[in-house]
Amino acid sequence: MLLSKLEIKGFKSFGDKVKLSFDKGITAVVGPNGSGKSNVVDAIRWVLGEQSTKALRSEKMENIIFNGTSKRKPLQMAEVSLTFLNNRDLLPTEYTEVTIARRYYRSGEGEYLLNGVPCRLKDIQGLFLDTGIGSDSYAIIELKMVDEILNDTNNSRRALFEEAAGISKFKKRKKETLKKLQETDADLERVEDLLHEIG
Ligand code: ATP
Repeated sequence: MLLSKLEIKGFKSFGDKVKLSFDKGITAVVGPNGSGKSNVVDAIRWVLGEQSTKALRSEKMENIIFNGTSKRKPLQMAEVSLTFLNNRDLLPTEYTEVTIARRYYRSGEGEYLLNGVPCRLKDIQGLFLDTGIGSDSYAIIELKMVDEILNDTNNSRRALFEEAAGISKFKKRKKETLKKLQETDADLERVEDLLHEIG
């Protein structure tokens, strides 16, 4: 599988549409301090569904939209799209080219798209489950994470191995199922209360 293309428009420092094509091998992004190198990584993390503004180095989600410069007006929408070549069938879809996109408007509304069709974040997360790609997976390793892994803070070394071994998917499903069970228990209790009231 190859990460082939990243398109950014209106995200952080990218007021104009920027298209980055990735070839086989290593791609290095170079530039002076503050020129937007980390914003490229933030864009990848964001389109993969990152919800934490802290992880995006932003105070609130609205701040990820291009805020203008002395010469340019702020934009109303941020859009990032990321294209993968599914040449090794690692993604469970018939498409050989998969593009995920995320949009966010100043009104607070947002949407996700899969090959141009609106979808839920859950669909995108489901697609990449087990591939090691995700907003909080080891596909993106920032300096802070290297420190965490070396110091093993919050059991992060274990979490990394679990993700690599494909265990985290089952843990996630277990958590979801337990939550559903809890909700069902609460519903049942409510039904019993109502029955008691009626009887
Ligand atoms: P360094 O090498 O110092 O880490 P960098 O190249 O990684 O720098 P980034 O942190 O990616 O740089 O980019 C920082 C720049 O992005 C700052 O100039 C900041 O003003 C700009 N920026 C961040 N959010 C926005 C926004 N919403 N609108 C416009 N510019 C923004």
